[in-house]
Amino acid sequence: MAALVNRQILLKSRPVGAPGLGNFELVQRPAPEPGDGEVLMRTRYLSLDPYMRGRMSAAKSYAKPVEVGEPMVGGTVSEIIASRNANFAVGDIVLGFGGWQDYALSGGAGLRKLDPAAAPVTTALGILGMPGMTAYVGLLEIGQPSSGETVAVAAASGAVGSVVGQIAKIKGCRAVGVAGGPEKCRYVVEQLGFDACVDHRADDFVRQLEAACPAGIDVYFENVGGAVQQAVWPLLNDFARIPVCGLIAQYNATTPMAGPDMFSVLRKRLTLRGFIVSDFAAKQADFLRDAGAWVRSGRLKYREDVIDGLENAPAAFLGLLQGKNFGKLLVKVS
Ligand code: NDP
Repeated sequence: MAALVNRQILLKSRPVGAPGLGNFELVQRPAPEPGDGEVLMRTRYLSLDPYMRGRMSAAKSYAKPVEVGEPMVGGTVSEIIASRNANFAVGDIVLGFGGWQDYALSGGAGLRKLDPAAAPVTTALGILGMPGMTAYVGLLEIGQPSSGETVAVAAASGAVGSVVGQIAKIKGCRAVGVAGGPEKCRYVVEQLGFDACVDHRADDFVRQLEAACPAGIDVYFENVGGAVQQAVWPLLNDFARIPVCGLIAQYNATTPMAGPDMFSVLRKRLTLRGFIVSDFAAKQADFLRDAGAWVRSGRLKYREDVIDGLENAPAAFLGLLQGKNFGKLLVKVS
C-alpha cells in the first residue's frame, strides 16, 4: 500500500480550567501497517463527546486519562482498508474507537460491523449509539418514569437530552427541557415534541422553569449540574428520582461545586444514582430494538451537527463545552 499520511490530534498539555486550542497538537505520521489479526481503519466520522474533557485531565475517574503526547480518544465510524483479520473484509464499515486521527489499527475486539442500508452510519455514534443508549438506560432503569409524571432534562437539544425527553413522551410523561437559547428551545418543543423548554440563559429562568412544571418534577435527568440543578431542586416532588448522568457545567471548574440540598434528599426521600452507560451493557439489545423501531417509525427524532475536517475537531470540541453545538456533534473526517 502506498505510504498513507495519518493526521493525528494529540493531547499536548493538560488544561487547568477551560481547555484551549493550545492543549492540542496536530501531527502527521505514516499510517501503521496491520499485523497478524489486525485491521487498518480509515476514519469516516469521529464523535465528539463531553467525557473527553475528563480524559484530558489526570484526575482519578472511571476511565484512564489520555497521556500527554498521545492521540485523543474517541468513538469512530470507519472503513476497513486493510485486513489481516478473518472477521473483517476491506470495505466493511465499523463502529470502533479509532480516536482523533485519520487511520487506526484494531485487533477486532470491540468493533461492530454497520449496515449502511439499515440506518445512516452516523447514527451509530448518536441516536442509535452510546448517547442514545445513555438516555434509554438512565431514564428507564434509574428514572423509572410513570405515565403522568414530569421528567425534566437539561442540554435538551443535545445527543442525550433530546432522547430522554422523547422517550419520556413515549412513556406518557410531561417532558420539560432546559436548553441554551431560544432557537434550541423552539426546536425541542416544535420538532422533538417536548411539552415545554426553558432557556437557562434567560434572566427569569427560575420562574420560567417553575411555570413549566406546575405539578413539580418527578424525574430530573441530571446532565449539567450548576445553576440548572439549583433551580430544579426546590421543584422536586416526594420520592423523585435523579439519574446522575453528567455535570457538564462543572467540567472546567477549578473549585468544588456547591452541593445539592441534602436535607431535601432526606425529607423528600429522593433517590439519586450516578451511572455510566457501560454499567448497562446487558441492555444493549433492548435499546437497539426499541430505539431502532422508534427512529424508523418517526417517534424518535435526532439532529446531527457535523463539522468538516479532522483539523477542526479541537475548536468544535471547545464549542461543545460552551453549548455551541446544536445536536450530536460529529466530525466528518473522510
Ligand atoms: P450535548 O450534545 O448535549 O452537548 C453538550 C451540551 O451541554 C451543550 O450543547 C450545552 O447545551 C450544554 N451545556 C454546556 N455547558 C452548560 C452549562 N454550563 N449549563 C447548562 N448546559 C450546558 O452532549 P451529550 O448529550 O453528549 O452529553 C450530555 C451530558 O451527558 C454530559 O454531561 C455528558 O458528560 C453526559 N454523558 C454521560 C454518560 C454516562 O455514561 N454517564 C454518557 C454520555 C454522556 P445548551 O446550549 O442547551 O446549554
